[in-house]
Order: sequence, then structure tokens, then C-alpha cells
Amino acid sequence: MITKDKTTVYSKPLKESIAIDRMMFKFEGNDSAPTMVFFGGVHGNETAGVFALREALGQIEQDKIAIHGSIYAIAGNLKALEKGQRFIDTDLNRMWTLHQINALKQKTTLNVEEQEQLEIYRLLEDILSSKEGPVYFTDLHTTSSKTLPFITINDAMINRKFSLMFPVPIVLGIEEYLEGPLLSYINELGYVSLGFESGQHYQKNAVLNSIAFINLALVFSGIVKQDDVPDYEKYKDYLTKQSKNISNIFEVIYLHNLEENESFEMQLGYKSFEPIKKGNVLALSNNKEIASKYNARIFMPLYQKKGKEGFFIIRKINPFFLKLSQVLRHCNAENFLTVFPGITWNDTNQNTLKVNTVIAKYFAKPIFHLLGYRSKRVNQNYLILNNREKVSRTQIYKNEFWNK
Ligand SMILES: [Zn+2]
Repeated sequence: MITKDKTTVYSKPLKESIAIDRMMFKFEGNDSAPTMVFFGGVHGNETAGVFALREALGQIEQDKIAIHGSIYAIAGNLKALEKGQRFIDTDLNRMWTLHQINALKQKTTLNVEEQEQLEIYRLLEDILSSKEGPVYFTDLHTTSSKTLPFITINDAMINRKFSLMFPVPIVLGIEEYLEGPLLSYINELGYVSLGFESGQHYQKNAVLNSIAFINLALVFSGIVKQDDVPDYEKYKDYLTKQSKNISNIFEVIYLHNLEENESFEMQLGYKSFEPIKKGNVLALSNNKEIASKYNARIFMPLYQKKGKEGFFIIRKINPFFLKLSQVLRHCNAENFLTVFPGITWNDTNQNTLKVNTVIAKYFAKPIFHLLGYRSKRVNQNYLILNNREKVSRTQIYKNEFWNK
């Protein structure tokens, strides 16, 4: 039998090294009970999730807490984790398009991250092939700037409802700006999937926030009983405090994408979620100042060399629109859309809309967002919109208490 070498991962804030396998933790219960799949270290310099998974799941094991279902903890980019860098050849969290996954299966030579992706893909296939109960995915990350802990989701109702259980802010719509994050792929398979950004890469609270989040996620999914987690209330209070009592839903309204060879430097001192005003200088791009066009909040400003997103801008969503979108989706309001000129179905299953933005210019993106669509511009004249609700496996979650 071949035994694979373990990967050594170092935590700067904890000043500690651990040796891990790809599958860091596995407990398999009844296939009709809930399953939680955690990812940590999909970016190799983001070790907080890896350390938190080891600590939190190790504690559950040590305390012999009953597990009602299955738990898997998967380490992401092993090669990059070993080196403590975001990635080696390509960003493992930008490779999960159907096109790339299909190509991957045909390839004979793989770069470092393609090898990692293939191994993770096979694990996912294995896990999902047997499960009949609700399946949850959470992906643990950290950011280069200081930040409150927050959840990112694709805005399907199942994601929104499950996320609202956690006492942290929720940010919608990042996936419209990114190509190929792991969770977007899993969302397209119809499962609940949450990204959790726990803090700045090298701060200890990023580990502590993740430990609290992991425990709450296991309780909210029903895999672990609330009464069996002695520190449940402590975890909840801790995350509430770390989030400064902000638990609203925000949406991304702008991304400054970095061009090839662009020299980019954030102004020092911006923290994610910090309010900004129109005209505030945010960054220098090729030695020119970039000023904010919005009164809103800065989000995930880039303070490291690797990465293609300079900064995002987010805005709080009015609770009225959140409620409205829930009602509209519940009554399948999108079925009326194709009576308007310039809007047609893009496929026979009526999952995707094709919108001619020249003809249908009266329809703004927010209307599609309300109805649960995510948009991708294919060219100057066309938007392709995927309906997140239609692919959601709503049935498998219908009896879960958070979904009532
Ligand atoms: Zn990350």
C-alpha cells in the first residue's frame, strides 16, 4: 500500500505547525441524515480554517459528542499550504467552471492546482454519490485586509435562509464578478454552500472566529445537538461581538478588477466594511488616484501581491426588497419575463434567460436579482442569466428547521 506523505502547515499567529492529510476529518453516519463538508486552505496562505477545523472537530471527537449524520473536513491546496502561499501555478478557487472540469478529465499533464482540483473533485463525487439527506458545504477563507467576519453566498433562498442563522453580515453577488470559485460550482449542483471569511490572514481571531462558525454550522445543520456543545452560547456571543452586531445583508455593486501588468496599491488602512464617501481616494492604479463613485462600504481591499481583485464596493440591501424577492420567487414570478421584448429562454429547460440589453434596457440588473438570477455578460449586447432557484435542491432541505 502506498502511504502519502502528510502536509506540514504553519500558522503565523499560533506559531505552530501541524501535519495534515487531504481528508482531515471524516465521520460517516446514516446517508439519509445531514452531511456537512468543510473546506479549509483552498488558498494556501489562508491557514486559519485548517487550524480551526483541526481544533473544533478534534474537540468534538475528544468530548465524544454524538454526531447525527456525516462530517468531512477537506484541506484545499496542499502544495500551496505547505509553502504558505495563495497558490503555486493557478488560483485553485478560480478553476471550477464546467468547461475547465471537463477539460481536466481529458488532460494528461496537470499543473499543481489541476492535480489538487482533480483529487478534490473525485472526493466530492464519492461523497455525493451516496447521500440522500441534506448536504451542506462551507469553505473557510481569510482576507489580506482587516475585516469583520462575514458570509458570502450565491443568492439562492436555501443559502440565504441558512446563512441568516449566523450572527454575522452576509454578502451577496460576489460570484457575478468572479470566474470559477469552488462554491459557485457546488451551488450549480443545487446544494447549500457558504463561504466564511473569518478575518485577516495572520490574526488569531481569524482562527477563533472559524472555530465558532464550525460549531454553529454543525448545530444549525442538526448534525450536532445544541445542548451537546458546552460553549454554544459563547461561540454565538463571540461572533456577534466580532461582527460588531452587524448582521445585515449586503450586495456587491462594484469591483475594481486588476488588468495584466497594472501597478496597483490600495491606500493604507482600509478595513473591509468600512464606510466610504463619494470622492474618497481608495487606491493608486498606474500612479493615478482611484476615487470612490459611491457612498457605500469598501469590501475586501487587496493588501497582498497575489490576487486579481483590487477592491469591491458593497451596499446594504433594504429589508423590504429582501422580503419582496422571497415572495416573488415563491410564486415563480419569472415566468412572465419572456413576454417582454428582448428576453428569451436560452435553453429548453427554462433555467437560463438570454437578455438583449439593447432592446430590454428597461430591465435593470436589480430586477433579475430580485427574481433569483445571476448574470454574466457574454458580449456588449447580451446578458445570460442563470436562475439559482431552479437548480436548488429545495426538496432535500424542506424539513430542516431553519427552512420553516
Ligand atoms: Zn481565500
